[in-house]
Amino acid sequence: MKTFVYSAHAYDRPFLEEASGKRHTLIFSEEKLTIDTARYALGFDAIAVFTADDCSAPVLDKLYAQGIRYIALRSAGYDHINLHHAAQLGIRVAHVPEYSPYAIAEHAVAMLMMMNRKLLDAQLLMKLQDFRLDTLTGFDIHGKKVGVIGTGKIGVAFARIMLGFGATVLASDPVQAEEAIALGIQYVSLEELLRTSDIVSVHCPLNETTKYLLSAKQFLWMKSDSIVINTSRGAIVNTRDLIAALEDKKIGGACLDVYEREKGLFFEDHRNDIIQDEDFLKLRGMKNVLITGHQAFLTREALTGIAATTVHTLDCWQLGYKSPHELHADESFTRNVNTTHTKDPGSITVLSI
Ligand code: NAD
Repeated sequence: MKTFVYSAHAYDRPFLEEASGKRHTLIFSEEKLTIDTARYALGFDAIAVFTADDCSAPVLDKLYAQGIRYIALRSAGYDHINLHHAAQLGIRVAHVPEYSPYAIAEHAVAMLMMMNRKLLDAQLLMKLQDFRLDTLTGFDIHGKKVGVIGTGKIGVAFARIMLGFGATVLASDPVQAEEAIALGIQYVSLEELLRTSDIVSVHCPLNETTKYLLSAKQFLWMKSDSIVINTSRGAIVNTRDLIAALEDKKIGGACLDVYEREKGLFFEDHRNDIIQDEDFLKLRGMKNVLITGHQAFLTREALTGIAATTVHTLDCWQLGYKSPHELHADESFTRNVNTTHTKDPGSITVLSI
């Protein structure tokens, strides 16, 4: 299938080429999909996109007019595409529902440990040959309470690691996963989770009900020395309220792999630019905030998985089949989570609308 691959970088291109072999014609561009760059896909059957690409209604209209009938998302999250509009146009959309949840869970743990054990400061002091330990005291994870918001694939992988450290894990999720219950994870309300946890890690998708799930009111519930980790989607946390909570010492610190306004910022070279986003600059300057640029997925195993699933989807479409990973309009950003639930084959409970 002739496919234009947007937002392709040196780190993911070889994995896609290897998975595709000679079955598909893949043309790569580092550029993001926008209303302007949509024209590059003229003459192609499909496009493959990532999280920073703009798949809003006007862009989909333009792609459709140019003949695009298939969109392969190289991500698990699909909050960046207007699925309803794609369905109206008859454009088929598939995502990568699973690709090493360990990559993201382990990155969350890496950030937590880096902040807790002050490894960045320790390295700087080491290079300065300042071997005093006065500023480097951390805490044991063992014996602490860890709150996991969203016990899907990544949340459970993160919880397992925390259990391995000897922490008690609490969870909040409208759907209780059998796997989590079997691990001894206790489901509580979001309020109880936030009031009692020393560490809170966000692993739910971004949708209408989870936007700003953590805002001023929720930060007030949290322990003043607690650490919040967000490797999910930036807008699940209200950035302004997070900054206020950090400044007012309502919480102890934040580890962020995602940022509310990361589009146009992350995944790009801005070395010669003056960044204007005051909130981002404020967060980046805080001693108790650690930010990475949406890199939690970046392991060889995850990239292999993303490429294999994306190419499998193209294989299916080329042969005239439905991809098992196709998304439907009712899975869109506006979905209502108060709906019926079914189990997936891996026995983690998933939502079905
Ligand atoms: P998943 O679908 O397996 O699990 C999501 C869980 O969140 C489900 O159990 C669901 O019931 C739960 N949930 C939904 N609404 C909730 C709410 N209001 N409160 C608490 N829980 C709620 O998804 P996953 O594979 O574990 O991925 C989770 C998210 O991680 C993705 O949606 C994506 O946004 C993010 N992600 C980030 C990266 C990265 O590189 N930073 C990579 C992959 C995925």
